[in-house]
Amino acid sequence: MAAFPEGKSEERKHMSIPNGSGASQGQWGRAWEVDWFSLASVLFLLTFSPLIVYYFIMSCDQYHCSLMDPIVDVLMGNSHLSDIWNNTPFLSWKAANIYICWVTFQVMLYILVPDFCHKFLPGYVGGIQEGAVTPAGTVNKYEINGLQAWIITHALCKFTGNLFYDYMMGIEFNPRIGKWFDFKLFFNGRPGIVAWTLINFSYAAKQQELYGQVTNSMILVNVLQGIYVLDFFWNEAWYLKTIDICHDHFGWYLGWGDCVWLPYLYTLQGLYLVYHPVQLSTANAVGILLLGLVGYYIFRMTNHQKDLFRRTDGNCKIWGKKPQYIECSYTSVDGTKYYSKLMISGFWGVARHFNYTGDLMGSLAYCLTCGFEHILPYFYIMYMTILLTHRCIRDEHRCSSKYGNDWKRYTTAVPYRLIPGVF
Ligand code: NDP
Repeated sequence: MAAFPEGKSEERKHMSIPNGSGASQGQWGRAWEVDWFSLASVLFLLTFSPLIVYYFIMSCDQYHCSLMDPIVDVLMGNSHLSDIWNNTPFLSWKAANIYICWVTFQVMLYILVPDFCHKFLPGYVGGIQEGAVTPAGTVNKYEINGLQAWIITHALCKFTGNLFYDYMMGIEFNPRIGKWFDFKLFFNGRPGIVAWTLINFSYAAKQQELYGQVTNSMILVNVLQGIYVLDFFWNEAWYLKTIDICHDHFGWYLGWGDCVWLPYLYTLQGLYLVYHPVQLSTANAVGILLLGLVGYYIFRMTNHQKDLFRRTDGNCKIWGKKPQYIECSYTSVDGTKYYSKLMISGFWGVARHFNYTGDLMGSLAYCLTCGFEHILPYFYIMYMTILLTHRCIRDEHRCSSKYGNDWKRYTTAVPYRLIPGVF
């Protein structure tokens, strides 16, 4: 056998590879003679490796990861080997297809995607690299692109496949720096919402500066939105249980929305009143105040009722009575079954999202302070109606997938979403 493949002689010279046959120079590629220990190990591994893999996974699946329990169970006659085998999932076409797709995907990443990580990561060595010299003197070349295959694979687990949706609704579920800096809580709660009331105060000050007085409409906007913002911080712990934190991912919607959209557009009434000061009649002002306060009351109490109900697992009083609810169950990805309850009394018996209705009543009150001369301040109620209706549908879609038939029972018991008898 030739020591070097054709065309490799130059490489050999250059690298001073020891020439000659394997016999004269020593065969250093792998053990030439197989000793008894190696042979025994090989036979052991060939025979028992599949069993070892099977045993470990089976003991976790069927015996809570106890290595002894399966043996004890069989020895004591509590179960037979056939029981264990019958509880083992059989190879299915679905599993085979998933595995084939998985390997094919990795093959494609291996072949098709050139390394790009070395451009961004100093110290990382990627791209075409040479391996060690083989006993035959060959130096194989390899495309080193594993890091990006790993990154792409993990990132794609998170992407939905629609670039725009992913950008808007986010990829990361709970992005954090260190232990405490939580992006979702910070961006949702701080830059925009803290600024909201400060901006409203500034508009009131501007009115004072321009007109020598602050109109009652401006005072109403400041008071009603101030209550809403203070409520948010007073109940910040409750906020951890809302859709924003529990289910939404951190993307443009939460990040840009809270930093730009919220401080500019949630304060539109105050800005409008700077340019168009409105002095409301006492009756109108009181009417708007009442609408705003009733809306706030419904919003707060509905949220409070759910929070109390969930915190006490139903052991509480809602409107002076033990709450009624529908028992429901759902299964997590790992197959574990959980139980939950959906309340059908109190405000949660009036409509499935009566908290949104209260929010919308409050939003309408803010807009009404500006009178009816211009449509601009009404942007807020239009926007909130779209946001909360969409949010309601999105949430119900998620709940329906989560609870299945139990959700159907719930929607039968509480048939309307926002306004009883209408929607
Ligand atoms: P909710 O507080 O209504 O939470 C919905 C979740 O509550 C569901 O996913 C479900 O979760 C659980 N649930 C649903 N029905 C019941 C029931 N009958 N009994 C018990 N639990 C139930 O939604 P949000 O997080 O969207 O809203 C929180 C508040 O924030 C609302 O008042 C809303 O108006 C306000 N908001 C204001 C915004 C603004 O810009 N001003 C924007 C967004 C919200 P599970 O899976 O646990 O069962």
